[in-house]
Amino acid sequence: RGAVRFDNVQFAYDPKRPILKGVSFEVPAGKTVAIVGPSGAGKSTLSRLLFRFYDIQNGSITIDGHDIRDVTQDSLRSAIGMVPQDTVLFNDTIAYNIRYGRITATEAEMRNAAELAQIGPFIETLPEGYDAMVGERGLKLSGGEKQRVAIARTILKAPPILILDEATSALDSATEHEIQSALDLVSRNRTTLVIAHRLSTIIGADDIIVLKDGVIAERGTHAKLLAKR
Ligand code: ADP
Ligand code: ADP
Repeated sequence: RGAVRFDNVQFAYDPKRPILKGVSFEVPAGKTVAIVGPSGAGKSTLSRLLFRFYDIQNGSITIDGHDIRDVTQDSLRSAIGMVPQDTVLFNDTIAYNIRYGRITATEAEMRNAAELAQIGPFIETLPEGYDAMVGERGLKLSGGEKQRVAIARTILKAPPILILDEATSALDSATEHEIQSALDLVSRNRTTLVIAHRLSTIIGADDIIVLKDGVIAERGTHAKLLAKR
């Protein structure tokens, strides 16, 4: 479940300057595809198009064969989980942030949740419990701690499709390694689109797409692309 297909996708924010000039690729259900390429190549734009933040001008994007134009924004949002580079948290408790505002969970409720077993390992290294306030009037979490909250949120949401948009690029290398391992676990058996500029973050990808000047310049496994460089 969750196969994603981009077919001849063309898109421009400004008609005079096309960003994607006909991009086609598939992320088979449960597989991981990485998109690399220079800054400004249109990598993040691809993920915004999948969420239907903008309408493509030509071509199509499908999920399990359904054109996303026929899918409501709500169902897209529940089908797709996203861990961005810098997670912005609500000025509320850690529990609320993990629930993403869907229910106001107290620490006690969180502890009772069967799902907690899954997210515990990501949260137990946070400085205080689930009821701790974060943000302006609360704890200032580090970049790695915020990514842990984003990962816990994703685990509870359990979306069939996951987008990791430079999810570790703002972190120092020790933290990056730790968060990368967590992300590898979360993306296992989930349809995953990884946007990256460092090859080290995409070693586990089943397929790598190099986006340049609005088209796919190269495509292949990690080993194949490395051999050609
Ligand atoms: P880093 O040293 O930060 O890990 P990389 O060596 O992974 O960086 O990538 C350097 C540049 O090459 C980046 O601009 C990136 O977009 C591009 N790039 C990354 N992977 C590939 C690839 N497989 N083929 C071609 N270019 C790539
Ligand atoms: P990448 O993720 O590969 O760095 P982006 O998809 O963020 O690239 O951006 C691709 C190009 O589109 C860039 O030149 C960027 O400046 C431009 N761009 C991104 N968002 C917008 C926007 N909302 N309006 C106009 N131009 C944009």
